[in-house]
Amino acid sequence: MQHPQQVERDAFEIAIICALSVESNAVEAAFDRFFKRDELLFDTRRQGDPNSYTFGIIGQHNVLLVYMPGMGKASSASVSASLRGSFPNIRLGLVVGICGAVPELGNKKIFLGDIIISTGVAQVDFGQRYTGHFVRKDTLDDNLGRPNTELRGFLRRLSGWKEQQEFNPKFLGNIRDICGKKGFSDWTKPTLEIDTLYSADYGHRHRNLRNCSVCAQVGEERPVFCESALSMSCEQLGCNNVSRKREAEDVPVCHFGHIASSDQVMKSALDRDRIANQEKVLGFEMEGAGVWDNFPTVIIKGACDYADSHKNKTWQRYASVTAAAGAKAFLQQWEVSSRDFTRMAESQGFEYFAGNGSDQRLTMFDNTSAKIGNQGYRQTISGPITMNFS
Ligand SMILES: [Zn+2]
Ligand SMILES: [Zn+2]
Repeated sequence: MQHPQQVERDAFEIAIICALSVESNAVEAAFDRFFKRDELLFDTRRQGDPNSYTFGIIGQHNVLLVYMPGMGKASSASVSASLRGSFPNIRLGLVVGICGAVPELGNKKIFLGDIIISTGVAQVDFGQRYTGHFVRKDTLDDNLGRPNTELRGFLRRLSGWKEQQEFNPKFLGNIRDICGKKGFSDWTKPTLEIDTLYSADYGHRHRNLRNCSVCAQVGEERPVFCESALSMSCEQLGCNNVSRKREAEDVPVCHFGHIASSDQVMKSALDRDRIANQEKVLGFEMEGAGVWDNFPTVIIKGACDYADSHKNKTWQRYASVTAAAGAKAFLQQWEVSSRDFTRMAESQGFEYFAGNGSDQRLTMFDNTSAKIGNQGYRQTISGPITMNFS
């Protein structure tokens, strides 16, 4: 009989934060299992904490998923502050979901469905607005900058050649697993709608000027903001100046780099490219900056549009899946430190067998915690266990 894996509040050290239900649905499908009510040895609704949580396991980690009531920095900041109050042991926050991508930066090309793992965040709406000009505050104290040392070291290793050999198959396998789950059959890569990138100066507007007085007033050549065009699709308007296409057979790629966080939705290709070149960011999102102040944070986002005026929702489901799959692969590579490992083993009654040539690991484990080594355990984990006892 399977013994229930009962856990205390302090057994949770990893939180995933999602703003949209399309994002959290995909993340839920990435969990290996969820904790049942009687396995949680604490009150899941602590007084003063309005957050909603789901508790489960991804890879070898206890993970909680928290749902934001809305988008933006203020919402993510208050959610993560309450989260930290209720779960003081959280030491890694993953902001997982969708973002607008910068199609090209340096030698990097990003396509829809690719994911970006943040190695830093630039809060691009923090500064002073002058007439026609914005000065961003970017001293280290004022802005967010880099993740902490532990996270930086891990991200550097994860982005290296060796770890990527392990990460990529897991990432692609996780996408297949999620899309194979019940209810996710139409979350796969859009096949009919191809990944379309328009030239940066080619706006989403009426092409037939007889149909719109606003667009006709400005003429075909000059940029215009046309409100009535916003509710129409590129097909309806006849947008056709395509500068790049991706073939449907390509697999999604994981990129490491900086992400811009802002309360404004980026819908201007010219501003996108200007900020991308200034700040060296690969994408635009809205929640990371609010979480960053509360605990070490990594933003993992799937590219669902190109942050331009043509943006639409066609790729949101698939980009949510690739982001969730990337977050799971990240956690599958994220090592449990000896301290956490001991606590997790104690709280969950895990047993590690010497078995197939893992004697050395078992010895290391025994040295780490003689108490655990001398007790009887009920559960077996098969396969190699990677631990870092440095
Ligand atoms: Zn118009
Ligand atoms: Zn368009």
